[in-house]
Amino acid sequence: MESYVIIGGGNAGVSAAQAIREIDKASSLCIITDEHDLPYRRPMLTKNFSGIDSSNPYAMHDEAWYEALAIELCHDSALRIDLAGKTVSLASGSSRSFSKLIIASGSRCFIPPFAGSDSANVVSIRKTDDVRRLSGILKDSASAAVIGGGVLGIEAAWEMRKMGKAVSVIEAAPALMPRNLDRDAAAIILSKAKEQGVNIILAAKTASIGTDGVTLEGGSLVPGDAVVLSCGVRSNISLAQEAGIACDRAIIVDDHMRTSVPDVYACGDCAQYSGFCAGIWPVAGAEGKVAGTNAAGGDCLYAPKAYAMMMNALGTGLYSAGKIASEGAQSKTIETPSVWIRLYYTDSKLTGFIMIGDTKKAFGLSPLLERGASEEEVSAFLK
Ligand SMILES: Cc1cc2nc3c(=O)[nH]c(=O)nc-3n(C[C@H](O)[C@H](O)[C@H](O)COP(=O)(O)OP(=O)(O)OC[C@H]3O[C@@H](n4cnc5c(N)ncnc54)[C@H](O)[C@@H]3O)c2cc1C
Repeated sequence: MESYVIIGGGNAGVSAAQAIREIDKASSLCIITDEHDLPYRRPMLTKNFSGIDSSNPYAMHDEAWYEALAIELCHDSALRIDLAGKTVSLASGSSRSFSKLIIASGSRCFIPPFAGSDSANVVSIRKTDDVRRLSGILKDSASAAVIGGGVLGIEAAWEMRKMGKAVSVIEAAPALMPRNLDRDAAAIILSKAKEQGVNIILAAKTASIGTDGVTLEGGSLVPGDAVVLSCGVRSNISLAQEAGIACDRAIIVDDHMRTSVPDVYACGDCAQYSGFCAGIWPVAGAEGKVAGTNAAGGDCLYAPKAYAMMMNALGTGLYSAGKIASEGAQSKTIETPSVWIRLYYTDSKLTGFIMIGDTKKAFGLSPLLERGASEEEVSAFLK
């Protein structure tokens, strides 16, 4: 019999537990989670603030699911991994022994060292409790500023705009989401934001944050009774680092999600495979499944997929996948009343696309992108 311990109850940890139970139904299996909610669909946090009150409707499974699979949820914080003794010490003072350990500790928000980043009106969104705190602040706020114009920042801005707040987004870069949008697509998103009353300010550097908003370098004040910091994430690797497990920006894993230490696996936002940490939901689930299967004695390889960026905000859909505006690529644009599509071809093969508006067809176009379909095939699909 094994004793499995998983640190972290996000998508990676829960998927790992589920994969273990598909192979090993009898051994003890515990997920240590430092959140008090049942594991939930984290991407929903910026997609519907109002859904999260004292309860959390985004739970991945109900309590009965964990009971039926004999997965113990231990609501505690893992403080230290002792590799020689094969135990994990917990904040409550107790400890858990393991024969197989899976680290799925995810990531946390990066908080830039702006003066005032720790003010009472500033929130960065990673957990349900962050949304609960923001909702409390918003009750007495007429305006909100978001620092960071990535997908999560714009989704948060849109949620607050729908609540009737005067909302600004402050982006340090001169262009919006430059890896995912070309110049025309960025212009469309900026005009949608304007139509919807969301003020996006590009090339704007934050100097400090106060109770009335964000002061930019140069001195102008962007009003924000509430301020959301959305400036990227950092992998949670301190437990692994302190235990002597090999880490770079995240915990280094191979295609079986094995770390540098036997019987210790890592997956999801805390793991780095092939020099890269994707930091997205489907990858966390896929890596968790691989880690769990292999920890339980199976043999499963991680197969990386093409990544896509999706957003549903500002009254429109946005989907971007593959290489956008790369050197030597030819572009083609299709525009209908419901959707704007920009296709990129390299050597006559589809290598990237952007869709704005009704993005339903993006899911069908993605497999064509993965296999580098020809212009004729793409045109036939989009007809
Ligand atoms: C607001 C928001 C919106 C997002 N939107 C999208 C989206 O639209 N599409 C997409 O693909 N991705 C999105 N993501 C990213 C996606 O949610 C993550 O990639 C995914 O949740 C990572 O899963 P994970 O299990 O690796 O880590 P996490 O979800 O971070 O879970 C790790 C868990 O481990 C816990 N933990 C950490 N350390 C310890 C410890 N020492 N002891 C006990 N517990 C610990 C953490 O509290 C957390 O509960 C979004 C993320 C956020 C925050």
